[in-house]
Amino acid sequence: MNMKMWCLGVGLALSSALAVPSSSATSTVAGIESSTAIESGSASAVFCPRHESGELTLRLALFDAAGLNARVTTSLKQEIERIFAGVGVGIEWMEPEVLAAGRPHGYVLKVLMLGFEPTAWNLRPDVMGTVLGRRFPATAVYLFEPVIVRTLVPSGRRLMTPLELGRAFGRVTAHEIVHVLAPDLEHASSGLMAAAQHGQSLNSPVERFDGQSATAFRLGLSSVLRRERR
Ligand SMILES: [Zn+2]
Repeated sequence: MNMKMWCLGVGLALSSALAVPSSSATSTVAGIESSTAIESGSASAVFCPRHESGELTLRLALFDAAGLNARVTTSLKQEIERIFAGVGVGIEWMEPEVLAAGRPHGYVLKVLMLGFEPTAWNLRPDVMGTVLGRRFPATAVYLFEPVIVRTLVPSGRRLMTPLELGRAFGRVTAHEIVHVLAPDLEHASSGLMAAAQHGQSLNSPVERFDGQSATAFRLGLSSVLRRERR
C-alpha cells in the first residue's frame, strides 16, 4: 500500500511565504502532532455551531507555484468548497494579486501549491502538505504537488484526469486548513483528518470530516472571525 503522511506541523516562524526552514525544523513535529484534542461536547455548548450553520465564511487565496492546469485548479477549488460546505462553512476566494497589492481587512489564509519536494525544507519525502509556525491562526498552508501526484498515481496506474488531480489537491489542502484553525485537534481515525492517506482515499468519490474535526474547525474559525470583528 502506498501510504503517505498527510502533514506535519513544524514549529518555525517564517519571514516570508516561501522561506526555507532550517535543518532543525522537524525537531518539534512530535510535540505539535500529539497536542490535546478539543472536546467537541463542551465547545459546542458554548458556541452552538449548529445554529451558526451557513454563517461562517473562510477567505482563501491560492498561490500556484507548481503551474497547475487551469482545469485542475478549478477542481481543487470546487473540492475545497464542497468539503467545507458540508460543515456549514462558505469559501471566498481572493485573487493573489489583490492580496499582494495591499493588506485586506480580516483573515485570509494563503494556500501555496509548491512544485518541489518537501526534502528541500528538510521534511520527510512523503509529506504532502504542512503548516508552519506556532502562531494562531497561521497564515499559510503549503502543499507539495509532486508528493500528492505520486500518492495518487502509483507507478503503472492510468493517468488521472484534471478533476481527479484537483480533487486530491483539494483534500490535502482541506486537511491542512483544519490544522490551521484547530491546531490542538488530534488526527482522526478515518476520513479527511486521518493522519495518513493513500491513493485510494484521495481518489474515492467522497471524503468527509469526522464530527469532532468539523466541530473543532468551526469553533476555531468562529474565534478568528469574532476576533477580527472587534
Ligand atoms: Zn494532519
